[in-house]
Order: sequence, then structure tokens, then C-alpha cells
Amino acid sequence: MQIRLFNTMSRKVEEFKPLVPGKMGFYSCGPTVYWDQHLGNMRTFLNNDILKRMFLANGYDVNHVMNFTDVGHLTSDEDTGDDKMEKGAARENMSVWEVAKKYINNCVADMNELNIIPPTVTPRATDHIKEQIELIQKLEKLGYTYEIPGDGIYYDTAKLPTYGELGGQNLSELRGGARIENNNKRNITDFALWKFSPTDTKRQMEWDSPWGVGFPGWHLECSAMSMKYLGDHFDIHTGGQEHIKVHHTNEIAQSEPIVGKPWVSYWVHWAWLVLKDGKMSKSSGSFWTVRTLIEKGYDPMAYRYLVTLGHYRQPVEFSFESLDAAANGYKNIVRRVADIIANKSGELDGAVYDTWHDKLLAPTSDNLKTAETLVVFQELLRDNSVNNATKIALVEFVDRLLGLMFVEHAEKLVAAESEVAPAEIVALAEKRTAAKAAKDWATADALRAEIDAAGWVLTDTPTGPKLTKKA
Ligand code: AMP
Ligand code: ZN
Repeated sequence: MQIRLFNTMSRKVEEFKPLVPGKMGFYSCGPTVYWDQHLGNMRTFLNNDILKRMFLANGYDVNHVMNFTDVGHLTSDEDTGDDKMEKGAARENMSVWEVAKKYINNCVADMNELNIIPPTVTPRATDHIKEQIELIQKLEKLGYTYEIPGDGIYYDTAKLPTYGELGGQNLSELRGGARIENNNKRNITDFALWKFSPTDTKRQMEWDSPWGVGFPGWHLECSAMSMKYLGDHFDIHTGGQEHIKVHHTNEIAQSEPIVGKPWVSYWVHWAWLVLKDGKMSKSSGSFWTVRTLIEKGYDPMAYRYLVTLGHYRQPVEFSFESLDAAANGYKNIVRRVADIIANKSGELDGAVYDTWHDKLLAPTSDNLKTAETLVVFQELLRDNSVNNATKIALVEFVDRLLGLMFVEHAEKLVAAESEVAPAEIVALAEKRTAAKAAKDWATADALRAEIDAAGWVLTDTPTGPKLTKKA
């Protein structure tokens, strides 16, 4: 099936053509592991997963690389400011290495809860210092670097005529107007490749280099690790939309002088998860994680469904109202799928399966229009001409494509509903019926609460109370 994606570089939706037939390699900028990843970060990781699943559904072999940034970088694009990892370490009273380990584990756990397929490789920046130094040496040989004594080795962006192309900016626009924070830089857009350690304080993370003890600039690891694991040229590079103008622009500047142009075939950028008053970020104050959702009683799939209902180039607004709406929509689908599973009929009809399979896959293959796939999916569930055996196989396909776990949740619901309540729960229900008959509402309510706490739901029906196990 034809695959189309919006390429930030050309600012157009383009047909995807792999570098190697049947294979797709992509690199995603991963998290800086100094704190928990919030739901906004997770939207980005979910979008990587949807992209990957779409290629898998189209029969591609996918090689996905996502880094963990565990080197403490200076927080601003200007290579000044605080070091996030050192700040995290001070906050938690741990070493930077322990902080990295803790938040990598938390991030992996949250990604699992969201049914994100683990990347093929998750390289850590600190394990690739040698590769980063080698990259600087190559740039140095080609004449792209200069040293600011006592500060670091910088990339001279004036040496690259196409600098800024990804963000649609030209050099003179970029240079004009803005304040240069670091007065020693030759151009405002120049960035650090290697920073020297300060002479007055000891950093927890620092390495020897041909230029002196220090640490790499923050754009460097992605150039070095993507090329190490995907080759000099690869198909797709993804990341949050804020990376276009600086981080990815600088990755290109570091890579293309070495490997030639274009380094990457398609640049795909994810729009943000926003709150009513702006981007969800670690500094926005409203910071929710997957674990927060679970603690509040939400199924992580409700959040995945909310993201799937949006389009990756548009913001998705997060609020507990929008999450509740998504949770209800998700439950309704699970209910329908459970009914289909409970009433399995017919044999799989290959021709009908193929027709619906293509109808379901087409919108997601067309620039990841997942919401349109969900509309087709609802049509399928309602279509009485498709037998249930075929429907179940198609729901399984949608689960592979969108990772929403409908079948697993529906099977749990069916199992729960067919379970017979144990004698003690039936006895509580009978006592409650007696209390109601005696108009003793307080006792009736207390008994219902007791039944609920034991994991059973009591529903009054015209034929008497019905007990169902909570799914
Ligand atoms: P960070 O740990 O800040 O480097 O972020 C990790 C990834 O999450 C990056 O690719 C960011 O672009 C992405 N990200 C951060 N905030 C949001 C947000 N509110 N919505 C979507 N993606 C985000
Ligand atoms: Zn990156």
C-alpha cells in the first residue's frame, strides 16, 4: 500500500520511498532522563509507535533507534544555563548515574503501560562519548569548528550555506535582531560541540578529549548514535516539533558535511500535547504521568485512545474532561468487541477480511490519519454483513496497527461477565434484597458497598439483582 508522510524538509506530504526495499530505519529523539516523562512526552513516544506499527502493518522490517539523553546538558539552546542531570541529582540526593537509571526505568515502565513496542535499540549518550569525539574530529578536519578558550569547541554555522533549511530560515534572518548571549561566538546560531568543564567546580560527568576535559554539546549524541545504528543515511528522523529550528537543524549541520546531503530522507515532527493555557511541560506545573493516571483509576489505553483520535500535526488538548470522554469511547468499543467475542459465529471470510483490512490500513498509511481508521473501524463493528469470526480477526489487526488492546480488554470483560459469583457474595446480595424489602436503605447501601469492595458489581434488573465481576 502507498505510504505518505509530511516531510518537514519539503513542507509537503510525500510518498515514502525506502532506501532499501522492504526496510525502514528511523531515529527518534528520546527523553532527557532527569525526571519523569509526562503525558506530553508520552504523546511523542506514542506517535513514534504508531509510525512504526503502520510500517510493520505494511510488511516492512523496522529498525527503530531511540536514545536516552543521560549526559547533563546545559538547559538552553544557547549552551548556557543549568545542567538538568546535575540539578536532578541535587533534587533527589542521588548521583547523576543513579538519577539516569531511575528515570530510564520509569520511562520504560510507562511506555510498557501504553503498549508501546520497545525500540530496537535504546543507546545512551554516555556510552557513546568516543563516537561523539570522533565526529567533532571529522568536523574539525573539514574546517567547521573553532575554539572559544576556556569555554569549548563550537560549530561555525556560517560555513554551511544551507544552515537553517529545515526550519525554513536563512542565515541572515537567523543572525539579525537576536541577542547573542555568548559574545565570543562568531554567529548567533553557532553551537557547542564540546564544552570544557568549569575550573572551579567538579562535574559528576566529564570525559577526556583532545581539546580538554569536558562533555559533549547536546545535539551531538543524536548525530553520532543515529549514524552508528542506522548507517550514514537513513529513512526517517522524528521528534517533537520544537526540535525543528535548533536541535534538528544542528544535527543536520553536524552530519551532512560528513556524509553528504540529504542525510535523512524524511523529517517527521510531532505536535504537542497542550493544556488550555499552553504546552504540557515540566515547568507548566500541571504535570501528569502515566502513573498518575493509573493512580486516579484510568486505564492507560484511554490516554492512548485520546492520542489516536488526534492527528500528529495538530495539538491535542489534555484535560480530565477530554480524557473521560476518551475513556468512555474506549469502553464502548470494548463492550461491542466483547459482545462479538461472546457470540463468535461463522468462519473467517478471506475476501471480506482483505477488503476491510485495506480500508482500515489506508487512512493510517496516508500520513497517519489514525482517527479516520477509527471511523472505518466503528463502521466495521456496526456492519451486520460481516460475520463475527471475520470481525474478530479484523479487530486483532487494528490492535496490531494502533496498539489499543481492544481484544485483550474485551476478553477480560467476557471472562469477568461469565464468572459466577461465589456463595459469600451471593449471600451479601440476598441480605441486601431483604434490607431493601424492609426499607432499611442504610444497610442496603452498606451491603452494596461491601460487594463493590470485593470486586463485584451489583445491578438491579427486572428479574432481580445481577452480579458481575469487575473487569
Ligand atoms: P525531553 O525529555 O524534554 O527532551 O522530551 C522528550 C521528548 O518529548 C522530546 O522529543 C520532546 O519533543 C517531547 N515533548 C516534550 N513536551 C511535549 C509535549 N507537551 N507534547 C508532545 N511532545 C512533547
Ligand atoms: Zn535528538
